Amino acid sequence: MNVHNAEIIISAVSPKQYPETELPEIALAGRSNVGKSSFINTLINRKNLARTSGKPGKTQTLNFYLIEDALHFVDVPGYGYAKVSKTERAKWGEMIETYMTTREQLKAVVSLVDLRHAPTQEDIQMYEFLKYYEIPVIVVATKKDKIPRGKWNKHESIIKKALNFDKSDDFLLFSSQTKEGKEEAWQAIEKYL
Ligand code: GDP
Repeated sequence: MNVHNAEIIISAVSPKQYPETELPEIALAGRSNVGKSSFINTLINRKNLARTSGKPGKTQTLNFYLIEDALHFVDVPGYGYAKVSKTERAKWGEMIETYMTTREQLKAVVSLVDLRHAPTQEDIQMYEFLKYYEIPVIVVATKKDKIPRGKWNKHESIIKKALNFDKSDDFLLFSSQTKEGKEEAWQAIEKYL
């Protein structure tokens, strides 16, 4: 998809704030700093529409972006911030769980992991959660440009093994610096629209 129009519709915390439309939704999840905002901005051809969320102290919201009047991207606040309190973490968990397990428009989740590192415990938990609820996943391994080409396969294998990756899901390498993986990401997403 070549995106010309994208805008934020609402930052929601509870279901009554979710937009009342039938448009398909693709949610995006990943630990803070994984490159989620950069991924969203690359896909929608914008420099700075999606901003880094999940910083401690910032309101944790589900940000709905309307893309080309065709779908919503739902930006899930980043997990894995050590400084976030237990109460905040519990609230985060409840908000995500409610959204992911009840929202009929949700077609697939883009789960972002860092190609450089083995998945964290939270990455693994997120993947297991999505598999449990039979939500299709597109695993995007970010920051591909930071790993030499000769090591891509090895890093991909480590991630797949740690996640117990299901072959019916998509897996792709991505770089917001070089834009590699952008077309592949859109192809993976468009399968679910
Ligand atoms: P978020 O917290 O997941 O939304 O992460 P951001 O998109 O804000 O990115 C976190 C940091 O990683 C920023 O400094 C980005 O410039 C950097 N970053 C994100 N994606 C890439 C990438 O593909 N390659 C490189 N080299 N850096 C990236």
